[in-house]
Amino acid sequence: MADKRDYYEILGVSKGATEAELKKAYRKMAVKYHPDQNPGNKEAEDKFKEVNEAYEVLSDPQKRAQYDQFGHSAFEQGGAGGGFYGQGFDMGDLGDIFGSMFGFGGFGGGARKNGPRRGNDVNVNIQLTFEEAAFGCNKEISVAILDECETCHGSGAKPGTHAESCPKCNGTGQERFVQQSMFGAVTSVRTCSQCHGTGKVVKDPCSTCQGAGKVRKTKKYEVNIPKGIDNGQTIRLANKGEVGENGGGYGDLLVTVYVQPDRVFVRKGFDVYCDVPISFVQAALGGEIVIKTIDGEQKHTIKPGTQPETVVTLRGVGIPNLRNPKVRGNQVVTLKVKIPTDLSEKQKELLRMFYNDEPEETQEHKGGSEEKKSFSEKMKGFFKE
Ligand SMILES: [Zn+2]
Ligand SMILES: [Zn+2]
Repeated sequence: MADKRDYYEILGVSKGATEAELKKAYRKMAVKYHPDQNPGNKEAEDKFKEVNEAYEVLSDPQKRAQYDQFGHSAFEQGGAGGGFYGQGFDMGDLGDIFGSMFGFGGFGGGARKNGPRRGNDVNVNIQLTFEEAAFGCNKEISVAILDECETCHGSGAKPGTHAESCPKCNGTGQERFVQQSMFGAVTSVRTCSQCHGTGKVVKDPCSTCQGAGKVRKTKKYEVNIPKGIDNGQTIRLANKGEVGENGGGYGDLLVTVYVQPDRVFVRKGFDVYCDVPISFVQAALGGEIVIKTIDGEQKHTIKPGTQPETVVTLRGVGIPNLRNPKVRGNQVVTLKVKIPTDLSEKQKELLRMFYNDEPEETQEHKGGSEEKKSFSEKMKGFFKE
């Protein structure tokens, strides 16, 4: 798996490519390497597979998020992401172009709409606090989703009546056209304009759904948020999306999480970063300080002579790993030495005493102006008396 190429590179798009850009790039590549365009060309065949695999992952927001975070390892067997890879990919998107270009029969049948069709996936966003994302939680969400109309059980026809076969397409849902193309005359198939591919027309529409067979219902779901989830990642609730057509089943509900920034902690992967202020006296003398972690406060001893921007790593108190929550990241603490700005007269005097008590070699680097030197001379004189 190590020599696998980057999916974005395969499609020739940037990491930030939009869905439309991905689709466009994919179509271009898929047409270029399609086996019918390159008969007997093994290299083109491999490229075609590679392009399809890349698109299968990047066109799915959840898989794309997993890929962005974990790379190819997201889809290796045994990973937390395992299980959603290799379900085969849907040529529905391409059915239309290949259908009309090559006159394909057995390529997913994109234009056929009166058969079973799975319902659409539904996307919903939720906000989580930093802690909720770190430690997981249960969230109740409420979402309006197209579901089967209970009055007509999805037929769209008034109870007691039935939908009839579409006269324009004889119930097939498709209209056929013969077109001239660069490959000669080809038959292309389009969705019937009267029944929109359903193959049926409703004469007496159901009053609840106005003949649509579907109504929007507000549904509540409890979403289990796993420990370690990060901003922008998506949870898939299988079959909780929109109702399909002709018994095609439900789509999925895709819950994308947005994690609110924390006031103290910044997350990078499973590590937590924060700054901890210490006084210059603590830095100089050393001692015990209290560091806030996501588990609560932790005592930490700093060495005498701790320098500004010293980095302290607290192991295993970071974010639980999404794939293996028993393993946690680290907390990376930068010690910020604070220089006081509101000293009392007494403190100033003590500091002046300290200043004059420093060894000669340090004195040389004090780089003072004449004024400072004379002040220092004066102080020396003061303390000698
Ligand atoms: Zn209805
Ligand atoms: Zn029709």
